[in-house]
Amino acid sequence: MATSKDKAIENRADRADEVKEAGRQEGQDFESQAWLTDMDGVLMSEGKAIAGADDFVAALREKGCPFLVLTNNSIWTARDLSARLHGMGLAIREEEIWTSALATATFLSDQRPGASAYVVGEAGLTSAMHDAGFVLTDTAPDYVVLGETRTYSFEAITKAIRLIEGGARFIATNPDTTGPSPEGPLPACGAVAELIAAATGRRPYVVGKPNPMMFRYAMNLIGAHSETTTMVGDRMDTDVVSGMEAGLRTVLVLSGVTKAAEVERFPYRPSLVRGSVAELVDLV
Ligand SMILES: [Mg+2]
Repeated sequence: MATSKDKAIENRADRADEVKEAGRQEGQDFESQAWLTDMDGVLMSEGKAIAGADDFVAALREKGCPFLVLTNNSIWTARDLSARLHGMGLAIREEEIWTSALATATFLSDQRPGASAYVVGEAGLTSAMHDAGFVLTDTAPDYVVLGETRTYSFEAITKAIRLIEGGARFIATNPDTTGPSPEGPLPACGAVAELIAAATGRRPYVVGKPNPMMFRYAMNLIGAHSETTTMVGDRMDTDVVSGMEAGLRTVLVLSGVTKAAEVERFPYRPSLVRGSVAELVDLV
């Protein structure tokens, strides 16, 4: 008996039916009309492209599959990231990248258009907030928005704490407590958010993964629907759990943080586990 979900899928664009039919013919039930993919640990690692990532992106383009590259990192603008990826041999355009800074600015402009904010962060966040119509100020702002930076200053953190005490709403772009670097871990947005939370007694609202909001905005942007979209990530505790909660198919690739031996320890599982994106080219 067809469920309402089956009917909804059948009623979608012709392409969904074609993909479904192709899947049946190959004896596999994996179907995807659109793809969301994490960046670090999936397409690149330690400044280099992961082998086969270029083929995966080429396959998405060839098949005309809408896709977006997602990252929790709010330091860089999409343009900066596009340039970095091009430098590694990955031809990903600015408009194909979705950062937690862009998601945060979109969320806040939905909530309170034209509001004001005090931003602790770098160009990735300040330019996203500017572009979304925010006034950036350190005088009685509606929001304090904390992002990722490599130069957290005691002065800026003190200012943020006092503004939150004064009534500003506390937002953070991403919950990651550390970030990778060749020399070892770096303190990241989530760790500094804890510092401010301890000082103010106020917890931030956090927009980046694992908040499913990252996926919802991303899917809206490319006209994708959750039941025919796949999320590819390298972390069970962020990419897979939040993709699953947003109703997406999930693929865990073992080229990043989560190791094969750890997968079964989690109380949830991805739709598929693959060594890397190189093994996904045939599924596009
Ligand atoms: Mg990752």
